[in-house]
Formats: sequence, structure tokens, C-alpha cells
Amino acid sequence: MRPMLLAAARSPRAERTVTGFPVTRTLVDRFVAGESLASALATVRELLQSGRFVSIDFLGEDTVDPAQARLTVDTYLALIDELSALAGDSGDVRPVEVSVKLSALGQALPRDGHRIALDNARAVVRAAHAAGVWVTFDAEDHTTTDSTHAIVRELRRDFPQTVGTVLQAYLHRTEDDCRAFAAEGARIRLCKGAYDEPESVAFRRKPEVDASYLRCLSILMAGSGYPMVASHDPVVIGTAELLATAAGRGNTAFEYQMLYGIRDAEQARLVTLDRHVRVYVPFGDQWYGYFIRRLAERPANVAFFLRSATSR
Ligand code: FAD
Repeated sequence: MRPMLLAAARSPRAERTVTGFPVTRTLVDRFVAGESLASALATVRELLQSGRFVSIDFLGEDTVDPAQARLTVDTYLALIDELSALAGDSGDVRPVEVSVKLSALGQALPRDGHRIALDNARAVVRAAHAAGVWVTFDAEDHTTTDSTHAIVRELRRDFPQTVGTVLQAYLHRTEDDCRAFAAEGARIRLCKGAYDEPESVAFRRKPEVDASYLRCLSILMAGSGYPMVASHDPVVIGTAELLATAAGRGNTAFEYQMLYGIRDAEQARLVTLDRHVRVYVPFGDQWYGYFIRRLAERPANVAFFLRSATSR
């Protein structure tokens, strides 16, 4: 079912069908903090008050219209302006982060996409740096990985503390990427990976992905950067504790990250243990692709969605 759902995540026809169900809205609200900046900020304030950190994502991806990419930049600039009042200070660790998809900034444009995305990303990073907000560039499908890493490295030359990125444990290349970024002292969010990748570039069986995640995490923990453990998996969370201790890292020298609406009680439990926990908070009306990827991760979500949609 996962490949089918992930194909649907990029199908305009499936999008029209799914967004047509009235019940979709109820389930989307579980994973998305509303369509407006105001609703996202209300969620952000609540999470910060509960002792959690945040990473805010303005939803949208695969933009093929330069004007849309510009609009995304403007929305991030407005968001960062609002966040500067909430950014606070926890020493080197920033409680407020924005997450950015380079494909929403123009990376997928047929002409000059890489350069346009770099220029747009630089505008976002410059504003975030001034506001005391971190920027983490999301990982998208494997065809974008080289371009994303090149942009991240370019921006890290001027903003090494502000800029981080995401590595996906399901890609064969990621152990090597972890070694390289860990040696550079980079801030790296490690996730399992949410796209449907061919076996030429990715592990496709869950036990292989899980094993790769733990190998990659041990590299990041032993390195000189700041690991961000993005997973809801209890085995990953337990192993991260052991690896951090073995590497001589204190509670604040790495962090856990989870998605808004998933394992809320576990997020709260980790906060009571004085662990840094950051919640990824998406908002905006382009929620379709993000929402379908969340369904693909957990069959129970699909069953709930189908039951609700067909009982009306
Ligand atoms: P899994 O083995 O999938 O899940 C472990 C357990 O977590 C499940 O048994 C279940 O209890 C719970 N769980 C997991 N997913 C769900 C769900 N959708 N609904 C309800 N319960 C669930 N992927 C990318 O490709 N690029 C990115 O940039 C990216 N950024 C991310 C940022 C953050 C902060 C997080 C947490 C994830 C991100 N992901 C990204 C998604 C990631 O790759 C996985 O697809 C997702 O996190 C599920 O993997 P898992 O590690 O939680 O483990």
C-alpha cells in the first residue's frame, strides 16, 4: 500500500478526490496546524509553553512557477518576522527553527532551478540568522539530494550555526553523507525517509532501513556536529540515549524531533526527563502531499480515513 499512497501523493487526480471528502479536513487537522500563519503561531506558542522546541514548515513543494517560489520566500520572511519575538535563547541551541523544502523555493524549475533555489534560500537564511531562528533544509526525493547538499554547504560557509539539513537513512549513500557532515560539525536531522525510492538507491525493506538508521545515528553521535533524532520509533529513541551517553554527550548536545500530532505523550515524557524535543509544525493550504505521506507511514491512519470517508 505504501508505494500506491506515495504515488498518489504526487497525483493531481488523487488530490482532487481526497480533498473532496469532507472528512479529510478532520484528519488533516491532526497533522497540520491550520492553513493560516495565525493558526500556526497559536500552536507554536502552546508547544513552546509546554517546554518543547518547534520547527515550522510552510507547506508546498515541487514548485514550477517562479512567482510561487517568490511567494514562498515572502511567507517565510513574514513567518520569521513573527518568530523573532518567540525565538528566545537556550545558549547555542535555538528553540525556534523553520524547515524549508528547496523544491518550494524553485529547485525544480526547469531553467536555473539550482541557482534560483540558492538565492531564495539565502534570503530566508539571512533573515532567520538576524532573528535568532535556525533553518533546516528538508530532504526530498533522491534526485534532489546532490543539489540540496551543495546549497546547504554553500550557505553554511556564511551561516554555519544557522543552517542544517536532513539526511534519510533509507538511502545507500547516507552513511557516507553522515560521516562527511559529522566531520564538518553540521547540524543534521536524521530521519528514515518518506519517499518511494528505487532499490538502486535505497533500502526498501523496513528492517534494513531501521538498521541503517542506527548505523547513521552512531556516526552522527560520535561526530562533532549536533544530531537531531527525527523518529517516533521507541527503539531509535532508546538507542539514541545509549549512543549519546557512549559519545559523552549531555542531554542538550543532541535533540529529539517528532511530527506535530504524532506521539504527543512521548514528546511530553521526554521533556520531563530534560531532553530537548522539537516538534515539526506544518501549516498552509498545500497540505495534500504531506498528509498522504503521513498516511503511508501508518496503515492504521489509512483504515481510519477510509472508515470515516465511507461512513458518511
Ligand atoms: P516508523 O518505523 O515509521 O514508525 C515508528 C512508530 O512511530 C510507529 O510504529 C508509530 O507508532 C509511530 N508513527 C510513525 N509514523 C506515524 C504516523 N504517520 N502516524 C501515526 N503514528 C506514526 N522524511 C523525509 O523524507 N524528509 C524530511 O525532510 C523529513 N523530515 C522529518 C522531520 C521530522 C521532525 C520527522 C519526525 C520526520 C521527518 N521525515 C522526513 C519523515 C521520516 O522520514 C519518516 O517517514 C517518519 O518519521 C516515520 O518514521 P519513524 O522514524 O517515525 O519510524
